[in-house]
Amino acid sequence: MDETEIPEDHPRYASLVTRHRIEAGVEQGITSKQGLIAQGRGEAFDYLLGERTLPSADAAARAAAATLLLAERPVISVNGNVAALAPSETVELAAAVDADLEVNLFNHTDERVRRIADHLRDHGASEVKGLAGDGEIPGLDHARGVVDADGIEAADVVVVPLEDGDRAAALDAMGKTEIVVDLNPGSRSPRTADVPILDNLLRAVPNVTTHARDLAGAPPDELEAIVDAFDADAALDAAEAAIREGSFASPDE
Ligand code: ATP
Ligand code: MG
Repeated sequence: MDETEIPEDHPRYASLVTRHRIEAGVEQGITSKQGLIAQGRGEAFDYLLGERTLPSADAAARAAAATLLLAERPVISVNGNVAALAPSETVELAAAVDADLEVNLFNHTDERVRRIADHLRDHGASEVKGLAGDGEIPGLDHARGVVDADGIEAADVVVVPLEDGDRAAALDAMGKTEIVVDLNPGSRSPRTADVPILDNLLRAVPNVTTHARDLAGAPPDELEAIVDAFDADAALDAAEAAIREGSFASPDE
């Protein structure tokens, strides 16, 4: 089925589009089969959170935008799921905050890096990093730790959507300021982040862009105040509380 054939009035339209994009990503060789499993886990948590952006996640998106606007060398890390789900949205965020895009894969192959880089260029990216592979994240085995020396290795702020817990911890140990997008408040990656956005990537990335456009031109002290007021633990707690309260998405609403 083509994405355009999914009926827009279907109560699970967003979920069906998401599944379709991941499936197409696997077929195009940009998403790994492991990525299908990660997607399933994400969907379960989105369901439990009510398939909506919590006010706490919106505050996190604003803090993420302020953090990116204050950064000197921000980099957005792109894996196979991010590329399949939100290529245009990710390219737009990079442009809005003047960040580099770097393909960085848990299951690295040069072929898949090239395909993802091409896919991002097809969606408007001018420069995509990740092919040099001349840098490293210390503390990980080589295949997992390979990055670009002038990309993630040199970055002060990294956006790591849907990142694995070990790699998030290793980036934290390098002293990076980390912005993580992940729906599971119990996952190690958001628990390691300076700014965890507990929201679906498809909603979170455009939301950070909207906040960044709104905050563009704001003086640094205003941006710093937004970053300082953000409480990562409170954001994790709010998502966990929303799950406990069980406001499941209802197709009837
Ligand atoms: P760890 O504790 O190592 O971080 P994990 O439970 O996060 O383990 P992964 O295989 O990294 O294990 O799981 C993928 C993560 O990506 C899950 O936490 C899932 O909620 C999240 N995820 C998947 N799809 C999306 C999406 N579209 N938006 C946001 N988060 C997503
Ligand atoms: Mg995780």
